[in-house]
Amino acid sequence: MHAKTDRAAWLKAGDFQCSVDPPSPARPFRLVLLGAPGVGKGTQAELLNERLGACQLSTGDVFRAAKSLTPYERTPALNEALDLMRRGALVPDPTVLEMVRERLVCLRCRGGFLLDGFPRTVGQAEALEKILAGERLKLDAVLSYDLPIDRIVARLSGRRTCADCKAVYHVEARPPKVEGVCDICSGKLFQREDDRPESIRVRMEAYEKSTAPLADFYRRKGLLVSISAEGTPEEIFARTVQALGAN
Ligand code: AMP
Repeated sequence: MHAKTDRAAWLKAGDFQCSVDPPSPARPFRLVLLGAPGVGKGTQAELLNERLGACQLSTGDVFRAAKSLTPYERTPALNEALDLMRRGALVPDPTVLEMVRERLVCLRCRGGFLLDGFPRTVGQAEALEKILAGERLKLDAVLSYDLPIDRIVARLSGRRTCADCKAVYHVEARPPKVEGVCDICSGKLFQREDDRPESIRVRMEAYEKSTAPLADFYRRKGLLVSISAEGTPEEIFARTVQALGAN
């Protein structure tokens, strides 16, 4: 079991460094996690982080962290990105890629990485391939979590996130001990703006259009590992670990 990382280098970029030293595993895993919003990728990333030591690098988390910047600290591109995000639409590739390039140090991390929410389009996947080739790095696998759409909508609308440590709960499947309060840090739980029904619909459409072709892209490269996202987080995790040969 590894210590949780603080992801300062990822969330804040610039000169920020993580307070927890990255692990030096015998075999660092470099993975992409694919799957529609609500399929449970974030929870699997947390469990994988504990098992493998690799850090969860979520582009959605970076955009959410940017919301707390003052308008003067935000570039026009970032303001546009936040507006699109509020509506559940995808942020344009150049903005996302610029943000990832500013965080190359995380892709180089000796602990490996778990990319969550990136790449989201074939264009982003091709760009990632070039970025990694420039660093002489390769992906080990692309984990694709699969779940029928009606189950996804039910999961998303019940999801609650801690405002402070970003831990994720579900009002029915994974409730906190005290309603509205995080078990880990006592932070306040909130419903993400884009988990509201009107945004969920837009996000699912964006996913179908732009992200589903990614599975084909990675299947052709022999990297795709399909995992059923039915059942409890622990059951899904057991399937993941077995598929990776990481047990
Ligand atoms: P997520 O937390 O991954 O569901 O991301 C939340 C929102 O952030 C998405 O609905 C998009 O608006 C934006 N976003 C995050 N990652 C990306 C990406 N790789 N490409 C485009 N938009 C993204």
